[in-house]
Amino acid sequence: MTIKSCLKCRFKKNFFKCCNKCKLKHFKLNYGKSPSGNNEIDKIFRDNYCESNSSKELIEWIPYNEFKNIACIGIEKVPSKYYIARYRKVNITVILMKFENLGRSQAPPSMG
Ligand SMILES: [Zn+2]
Repeated sequence: MTIKSCLKCRFKKNFFKCCNKCKLKHFKLNYGKSPSGNNEIDKIFRDNYCESNSSKELIEWIPYNEFKNIACIGIEKVPSKYYIARYRKVNITVILMKFENLGRSQAPPSMG
């Protein structure tokens, strides 16, 4: 796959100063067309990629197989479950949240 460089961003060294078109090319190169396999989640990542102005704002997509010792630490509230795991790449402990029922329309939880 060849990617034509954008003339406007070609020589910019700072990713965050690139245009959205170039940021999305970068996203596709790093994570593929659909990293999560879910349109809504992918959109969150792509939007974040375009809107971030610094690395602190950027959400990184980490594939499931990058984690080890995954253990459920309780169910906070339906439809999400929380897990503790070790991130292999940098060997740190992280908290994971599993979304249930994605792709189905769901009524919001009732208040009170
Ligand atoms: Zn560009």
